[in-house]
Amino acid sequence: MSKVLNNWIGGNWVPSASAAHENVYNPATEEVLALVPLSTKVDVDLAVRTAKEAFGAWSRTPVPRRARILFKYQQLLVDNWEALARLVTLENGKSYSEAYGEVQRGIECVEFAAGAPTLMMGKQLPDIASNLESGMYRYPVGVVAGITPFNFPMMVPCWMFPLAIACGNTFVMKPSERTPLLANRLAELFKEAGLPDGVLNIVHGAHDVVNGILEHPDVTAVSFVGSQPVAEYVYKTASANGKRVQALAGAKNHSIVMPDADLELTVKEIVNAAFGSAGERCMACSVVVAVGDVADTLVNKLVEAADRITIGNGMEEGIFLGPVIRGPHKERTLKYIELGEKEGALLVRDGRKDAATAGEGYFVGPTLFDDVQCGMKIWEDEIFAPVLSIVRVQTLDEAIEAANRSDFANGACLFTKSGANVRQFRETIDAGMLGVNLGVPAPMAFFPFSGWKKSFYGDLHANGSDGVEFYTRKKMITTRW
Ligand code: NAD
Repeated sequence: MSKVLNNWIGGNWVPSASAAHENVYNPATEEVLALVPLSTKVDVDLAVRTAKEAFGAWSRTPVPRRARILFKYQQLLVDNWEALARLVTLENGKSYSEAYGEVQRGIECVEFAAGAPTLMMGKQLPDIASNLESGMYRYPVGVVAGITPFNFPMMVPCWMFPLAIACGNTFVMKPSERTPLLANRLAELFKEAGLPDGVLNIVHGAHDVVNGILEHPDVTAVSFVGSQPVAEYVYKTASANGKRVQALAGAKNHSIVMPDADLELTVKEIVNAAFGSAGERCMACSVVVAVGDVADTLVNKLVEAADRITIGNGMEEGIFLGPVIRGPHKERTLKYIELGEKEGALLVRDGRKDAATAGEGYFVGPTLFDDVQCGMKIWEDEIFAPVLSIVRVQTLDEAIEAANRSDFANGACLFTKSGANVRQFRETIDAGMLGVNLGVPAPMAFFPFSGWKKSFYGDLHANGSDGVEFYTRKKMITTRW
């Protein structure tokens, strides 16, 4: 019998009020790891009340003392690095080395948040008029909620709760129901670091929990990361209910390859960006735009490199490509491969053949389509799997125009040796996170994670100074002496 997970409320494991639950699978073996409760609004209400009670004392805890708990937490995360990475691989399927890197990205968020005493500082101007001065002070916003996706069980929650908590807020997290295990471990370790009970709470479940959060009058701000339709829904509902909201959404990232690019580097970077983490990254490269006569050689080299990819259980050494997250997601991916053929794209590598040989688990091999046209569904939709489309154009202008036609605008990359090309790309591409001669231009924790268009709903992005602004509100005082 698999274990039913509990919610984490007030520093204790609390069973959900609901008897309904869902299986949590190891996507590499299809083994059931645990049962995740599908909690209800009753559970959300308990967690929010608990967080609200904890807010008074936590928000008045001196900032250096809060920061010291984050320093301790950082050390505990470092001490548990390998175990955390194994847990990521177990429930998500990505390779252990990717998972190890993901844990690092999470730890970096805690390191940034530990700078709270500096980050929380206000500003003063001693003479706004004769004998008149003004000052700005920064305060937490209250009970913050975070709703996270399956693809980064460590990094994405760590974009949210460490900084929100360092800023003096209390937190209710709703992890993905497909990857709930790591979140529980993160909460336990934070308690071990000295976090007072009730400051961080976890409610497991699916849309009922999300709706409970969006409707709860005592939740003041919501951070969301997930797919585009849900991000749009969360943004509209939370803001209609008077909450601050930042909602990071889906993507379709284009990588432009110029004829002067270093092809060895380009192929290595694109293969990692397109097929690493089984293409289940919001910064994955899903479209290559090949400019001019680089196309034939590039396609051949990409296919050769894709053929060399090792596929299997990410826990085993030397495996590069693990499974996608679930059976239905695999089926959806296979349908997109069929659709690409019907739309007239040229299937130059068919990952369906690897699915059969990889064994149990939700495997799809690296798949490449050449001669993809903008407007085809395989170009337009986020497939979120190891499927790469190649579009051929003649000039950089046309390449940028192709990328800018996408509704999504999370990231974009350029491979070139020309500074002029880089400048044109930087100035005219419609995307929030750019890479030059690298495949995954994800910013580090001290910069904002800044998608555009339908890849982001809101104003202030996650992380960096935007994160601090999002999790704080300001008070102005003007004084006459
Ligand atoms: P998802 O939208 O299915 O789920 C995200 C969260 O929303 C989960 O906690 C889930 O329980 C909840 N949810 C799902 N459907 C809901 C509904 N109908 N009503 C209310 N809540 C609902 O996303 P996912 O499949 O877990 O994650 C993959 C997606 O996340 C991809 O689109 C990816 O691009 C995106 N993502 C974006 C970023 C970014 O920074 N922009 C980062 C990581 C992932």
